[in-house]
Amino acid sequence: MSDRINASAESEACTWCGVTVEADDGYRLAEPAGERRAAFCRLEHVVPWALQGARWEAGRIADPADVGQTLERCAHCGAELPDTRLLLVRHRGEHRVPDAFCSVDHLGAWARAGGRWG
Ligand SMILES: [Zn+2]
Ligand SMILES: [Zn+2]
Repeated sequence: MSDRINASAESEACTWCGVTVEADDGYRLAEPAGERRAAFCRLEHVVPWALQGARWEAGRIADPADVGQTLERCAHCGAELPDTRLLLVRHRGEHRVPDAFCSVDHLGAWARAGGRWG
């Protein structure tokens, strides 16, 4: 699968705690405008990461448009997304569940409240 443009097709380390995040599990976060990304083993690890300064790695994740989803509003506050929007994609087996956020603050608040299922 070396021709996959989706770098998240491989396992990687959680940006917060360092455990291995399998390709079909966990969360991938990106700020496309800044070409930077992060990975999380579970949603709970987004919370301290957002609170303590949001460390990023250079790179991209797959665009949610590639999985047939268009995101126009912040999942937390409902505002229209700025150019600096963040994309968080949950990987669950074959499924990719994206949400978008206007800021790291709102991503953190959403994660703290339990995310989609909070
Ligand atoms: Zn973790
Ligand atoms: Zn927001």
